[in-house]
Amino acid sequence: MSEKINVPEIFGSLVFDDEVMRERLPKETYEELNKHIEEKKPLTFEIAQKVASVMKSWAVEKGATHFTHWFQPMTGITAEKHDSFIKPVGEGKIIMNFSGNELIRSEPDASSFPSGGLRATFEARGYTAWDPTSYAFIKDNTLCIPSIFCSYGGQVLDKKTPLLRSLQALNKQTMRVLNAIGNPYDAKSVTVSVGGEQEYFLIDRDLYNKREDLRLTGRTLFGAHPPKGQEMEDHYFGTIKPRVKAFMTDLDIELWKLGIYANTEHNEVAPAQHELAPIFCDVNKATDQNQLTMEIMKTVAIKHNLACLIHEKPFEGINGSGKHNNWSITTNNGVNILNPGKDPAENKIFLLFLAAVIKATDEYQDLIRASIASPTNDCRLGGNEAPPAIVSIYLGDELNAIAEAIISGEHFNHVEKTVMKSGVKVIPRFDKDTSDRNRTSPFAFTGNKFELRMLGSSASLSSPNVVLNTIVAEALSQFADELENASDYESAMNSVIEKAFKEHNRIIFNGNNYSEEWVEEAKRRGLSNLKTTADAMVAYLDAKNIELFERHKIYTSEELEARYEITLENYCKALHIEAVTMLDMAKKDISPAVCRYMGDLASTINAKRAVNKEFKCELETELLITLSNNADRLLEASNKLSKDVVKSETFTEIAEKANFYRDVILEDMAKLRSYADILESNTAKEYWPFPTYTDLLYSVV
Ligand code: ADP
Ligand code: MG
Repeated sequence: MSEKINVPEIFGSLVFDDEVMRERLPKETYEELNKHIEEKKPLTFEIAQKVASVMKSWAVEKGATHFTHWFQPMTGITAEKHDSFIKPVGEGKIIMNFSGNELIRSEPDASSFPSGGLRATFEARGYTAWDPTSYAFIKDNTLCIPSIFCSYGGQVLDKKTPLLRSLQALNKQTMRVLNAIGNPYDAKSVTVSVGGEQEYFLIDRDLYNKREDLRLTGRTLFGAHPPKGQEMEDHYFGTIKPRVKAFMTDLDIELWKLGIYANTEHNEVAPAQHELAPIFCDVNKATDQNQLTMEIMKTVAIKHNLACLIHEKPFEGINGSGKHNNWSITTNNGVNILNPGKDPAENKIFLLFLAAVIKATDEYQDLIRASIASPTNDCRLGGNEAPPAIVSIYLGDELNAIAEAIISGEHFNHVEKTVMKSGVKVIPRFDKDTSDRNRTSPFAFTGNKFELRMLGSSASLSSPNVVLNTIVAEALSQFADELENASDYESAMNSVIEKAFKEHNRIIFNGNNYSEEWVEEAKRRGLSNLKTTADAMVAYLDAKNIELFERHKIYTSEELEARYEITLENYCKALHIEAVTMLDMAKKDISPAVCRYMGDLASTINAKRAVNKEFKCELETELLITLSNNADRLLEASNKLSKDVVKSETFTEIAEKANFYRDVILEDMAKLRSYADILESNTAKEYWPFPTYTDLLYSVV
């Protein structure tokens, strides 16, 4: 009963996608381009020249005057350097031109991006190169060409290149497995489909501007708990407020124009928190789209005088924000290999791939953990709101029963679908799902896909997908070795599945991941629990992991070491900025405000006593004592943090420095905050120098 409506046509599409190319390119060029992409062969200059010419005229028609190679350096955000289409043709004349060469590559220098020592400043050349497997689009009158970024020596400096490499690896190993079992789906290639759900906060922009911590670090570094938090659970799925609704409507249109089909929007658990889910697509485009989504969210918010916070933990004591990575493997002819179908117990191909994910997750838990590590995500992981830092898989009742039957060698009794009875006669009856949901699992099988929920809200989708694709490719390559050499692949399949389930059963956990008991139980099972980024990143230096990435040609050991360095450098820098922002606010905002209030209290006491010596002044005196004591402690804590920040500069080893930030600076910051928050709770509102949690969380209506 659905009617086909072309959304981009209604709102004006800004994407140079397959449809535009089919319409505008000469038929042979279009076919040749697709053939090159399908067969993963480098594009010829002739094709690039033709695409460039069509791309330029399309972009100019849409009002573009500039173009840029749009890439994703290791900063985690996107980068662009705009050039105009204008070319001089003598005598003060210009034409709008864009060549195949300009489409294919650019040399932006860009030597200031983090390279983790891969590029000395004297070798400043860096190249960006067109990625024809994603699509170009127009943003701010600029044609943005999705690109990879590498050094003069060919080392990766970005987040797209390893992702594309990992897709090649997964494709290769999946096809080996499928071919070894007679290629039942008649597939020529596979890709990974990803839908990234994005959580965020929306607050009033005028209030945001009054907080130095929000502006500089994206989160509040001070703030007493508001009288009302999220305990009533009245925000989750609640009615969307008009100002937020207006923002979401605008955002949808902006995203749809860019080919990003934002689909679901709702309020999340915390006040002022919301979620957006797009329709899934292949992981390369999904990663580009998520970067764009975060950027567009922020700019649309500005139009509505709102600030969109994508930080993992903007407010202490209030749920933080994550990103859910829904991951599945799809064949070129549209089959989702992770779809269990009606009878999963008999769907051997599904069970084989399920076994591969289970084996991969167990063997490379540390890499999954490291792939989502960041100082901002550390604020959220392991709290009673987000999965713990312990990686485990949730299968659900039905699959778990199948797993148990496989392990014990017993016959599997089918779980029949039961009818949902609401107890209200007029409500239509419907079949219940065979499994309930589990919101606490870090990595849950959800019907026909795996959902990795450990990602922080501000992270790129790239790193965890590089790891997922590579580790599953590795498990599949071992399966392929067995299957290719078997005389009877059907019984070989059974034994591969059985072995994997038996050996990796410990990674399956269907209970409450937020509980203390699970932490203990996981320890007994020997699962890793790497609590912070400083602990997790060593996984990139582990011999077994280096070998894995080298074997599948994702990273060299040098490139891995660079990533390790960059992540830890970033960890220290981010915490450094937070520490000095706190010091600044304590000194320039909090202390003067508290002193002023204490002064007024003291004057009041004196003035009252001058009138009548008998006045007890209990209220003023008690307040003054509390404020004065905590102000002294605030000073003490500031001095300690200050001293330790200076000390942090003396470390030369990055691991030592990161550990110092984790063990000493974070603790100093927590202490400083605790005194400031007591001061806030005891200071009259008109004196407090910046908006409180109540102001920030409840003023958008
Ligand atoms: P849930 O209700 O389990 O969260 P949704 O249908 O709302 O599932 O989907 C959540 C996200 O997962 C969406 O972005 C959606 O597009 C994506 N998604 C759905 N199916 C798949 C799939 N097979 N592979 C990858 N992502 C998917
Ligand atoms: Mg979800």
